Amino acid sequence: MSNLKQVVVIDGEGIGPEVMAEARRVLRWFVSEGKLGIETRDGLYGAEAYRRTGKIVPDDTAAALKSADAILFGATGGPDYDALPPEAKRQGNLLRIRKSLDLFANLRPIVAIPALAEASSLKNRVLEGVDFVILRELSSGLYFGEPRGIETLPNGERRGVNTHSYTSGEIRRVARFGFELARMRRRRLCSVDKSNVMEAGQLWRQEVQALHDAEFSDVELSHMLVDNCAMQIVRAPAQFDVLLTDNMFGDILSDAAAMATGSLGMLPSASFGPVGADGKRAALFEPVHGSAPDIAGKGVANPLGAILSVALALRLSLGEPGAAARLERAVADALATGICTRDILHDGGSLVGTRAMGDAVLAALARTEA
Ligand code: NAD
Repeated sequence: MSNLKQVVVIDGEGIGPEVMAEARRVLRWFVSEGKLGIETRDGLYGAEAYRRTGKIVPDDTAAALKSADAILFGATGGPDYDALPPEAKRQGNLLRIRKSLDLFANLRPIVAIPALAEASSLKNRVLEGVDFVILRELSSGLYFGEPRGIETLPNGERRGVNTHSYTSGEIRRVARFGFELARMRRRRLCSVDKSNVMEAGQLWRQEVQALHDAEFSDVELSHMLVDNCAMQIVRAPAQFDVLLTDNMFGDILSDAAAMATGSLGMLPSASFGPVGADGKRAALFEPVHGSAPDIAGKGVANPLGAILSVALALRLSLGEPGAAARLERAVADALATGICTRDILHDGGSLVGTRAMGDAVLAALARTEA
């Protein structure tokens, strides 16, 4: 067995292959510098995998995911994927991968990059000092709760049902992750719920508060209702450090928060499972955006969310914080030259495609000091 850390790279669908091609080039650059003890292998996934093997997640991809130190994932979804049989999706897809690896903690850093201030829908003064992390519970809540489904009622009407449910254990483990994260940052955690209306929200608030009082009183804890939080994210996003919330609220709030960075295409994410008996945690890194079928195949997608996901993997799973910081600096330097993809186009910016943005990051990397 090799001592090198194992990284599995999955392109996925839509713009996934385009943005991951750039992420892969960046990773290769670090490996070719000779300073990174990692080995990468590609994993097949999605509609193409189904055509070739009859499975969305073929067996060898599933096996590689289980033993990987880090997984880099592009995007899933789109017309080809939607046309696949429901049974194939139930057998295995991104949601099932997250579930099988018990990825319960999803981190979405939101950092306003000065060069992109003009690309943001928010005013410059609102963007000043924006640097926070949304920590979204990823393995439970409304997206997984039972019962669920669509049924026909005796009167002929149809009824759609989903269940919003959390156990105290599920809340506490993600809250613990959040408090530990806050200790590595500015020691402030804001927990977001809908406890004025939902019982699951009341339990959420009670459990977060109890864990705080028992073990993390050195972290400043506040609670906020999700509707107010949506407003605060666009009113004064610099107030947040770690923002802890459930599965669905985190999904929605992070798209709104993306506007502080100029585009959904800028956002990376990291998802973690529990620490296993061997001391390792499953970890999956992916841009926050989806497969963007409207621009897929045109070479115009922004690859920076995928590239910044590589930086998160370097820092959080591959033990390379220096390389991570170097890559983040290189992204900021590339943007400071004024180049932008279509989604972050702003006055005075010069438009480039996916590949040229990757070229610019590589050129900036070569210029930056280790
Ligand atoms: P999306 O994120 O794919 O796209 C939303 C908008 O943002 C589109 O206008 C798109 O062109 C733009 N956009 C997204 N990423 C971009 C990038 N890197 N560069 C430039 N522009 C970018 O969301 P959607 O349109 O709601 O969903 C499309 C498909 O993606 C659906 O099938 C959905 O289920 C799937 N999806 C997958 C994931 C994932 O893989 N984790 C996440 C969200 C949505």
